[in-house]
Amino acid sequence: MNSKNNLAGKKKPKKNLAEIYGESKEQTNAETEDEITKEKIYLVYILHRVVYETLLLCKKADPNEAIGVLLGYKYQYEDQKYVKVVDWVTGKAYQSHAFAEFTPDGVRQYTSIIEEKYGDSENRPKIVGIFHSHPFGSNPHFSATDYNTFLNFPYDTENNVFVLIDPRSNYYKSYIVVIDEKGMKDLKEVDWVEYNPK
Ligand SMILES: [Zn+2]
Repeated sequence: MNSKNNLAGKKKPKKNLAEIYGESKEQTNAETEDEITKEKIYLVYILHRVVYETLLLCKKADPNEAIGVLLGYKYQYEDQKYVKVVDWVTGKAYQSHAFAEFTPDGVRQYTSIIEEKYGDSENRPKIVGIFHSHPFGSNPHFSATDYNTFLNFPYDTENNVFVLIDPRSNYYKSYIVVIDEKGMKDLKEVDWVEYNPK
């Protein structure tokens, strides 16, 4: 059991993302750079508001499963790739206690929400993954159907993020798509961190 991904016991990082990566213009002195290199780089960063709202949506859907799209950016810091999740959207889905999948209408819905929110803006976030819930009151795991869905087009791009939530036990687990040297794809659970905007 991986309790660090249970929100109840989750520790906040010492610094937010902008501080870690020196996005702030003041942080150009050597001392700060030293601190940056000592800082652990997580593979997934999720904005606090996104964590809160997606968890709330999954709680409201309980006892049904919920599904939604994660929006954000993929970055690289030295040789480490990481993903920043900044927003989420959803649309109509077929939902039951054991199933959640977008309807064709649902896909059109969330696509137009993204258009309305971001249009042609230069910094428009991209779809970087999916969140999905298993409201069973335990440590959740992806089902065979989930693996089949998320490891196929259009979801299976390397480093895409899949968040698996159990709204009853407050688990909030993050996985990324990894591709091995033989081209085999898998979902690997990774540490993630919540951040707040500056
Ligand atoms: Zn599932």
